[in-house]
Amino acid sequence: TMSRTPLVAGNWKMNGSRELAGTFSDTLNANSVEGVDVVICPPSVFLTSFEASAFALGGQDVSALDNGAHTGDVSTGMLAECGCDYVIVGHSERRQDHGESSELVAQKAARVLSANLTPIVCIGEPLDVREAGESALQEYLGKQLAALTKQLSPQDLSGCVIAYEPIWAIGTGKTASPEQAQNVHAYIRATLAETDEAVADGMRILYGGSVKADNAEALFSQPDVDGGLIGGASLKADDFMTICQAAK
Ligand code: PEP
Repeated sequence: TMSRTPLVAGNWKMNGSRELAGTFSDTLNANSVEGVDVVICPPSVFLTSFEASAFALGGQDVSALDNGAHTGDVSTGMLAECGCDYVIVGHSERRQDHGESSELVAQKAARVLSANLTPIVCIGEPLDVREAGESALQEYLGKQLAALTKQLSPQDLSGCVIAYEPIWAIGTGKTASPEQAQNVHAYIRATLAETDEAVADGMRILYGGSVKADNAEALFSQPDVDGGLIGGASLKADDFMTICQAAK
């Protein structure tokens, strides 16, 4: 099996400021985490307020379209010009609040790849699906994955990162147990292997949902958990550093 470089990405959501971008730049550049890819995804208006040397930047979302008459949207080229190497696509808040379908999410991932950036593609189930049992859970996640494997070539798929974020665990303080996360991550990898075994083997699959400084290590030590996507705890530089260290 391939060894996968762990990745920890902070999703600031609609939080932060230019001042916080400065604080994070100082802390993260002074504490580079050997062997871990560290990414901060701030609101796009703050991207250029970072001085990123020991970490990378990412967008939280992007348009699936070319530059043009699309008021309020931001393109992959613009994110690249502002220093991004990564873009989150399909976060559950985009799917829920903006009606994004898995097909649109796959289009966005393709657009991100064609700009030579890395999409962090989010999938994850709501509470009622989790409570309906294992086969309902696998069917739900399988559909979200199928939209991606249908639109992307194996070559393109190999340029993606996947984030498993159970919606019931996001911002709730109810994290998935390490065993629950491992079970789903193994299912995701096995599903990807049906498309391409080498791609599945190399795929970084992040866990997201109430990862904190004190539970990160137990989650990241699972064999199919290759790091995390961090919301709330990514807004405090010290907590975020501790979480990045836990991915080593
Ligand atoms: C997220 O929204 O990506 C997330 C994981 O949030 P939190 O860590 O706050 O649950």
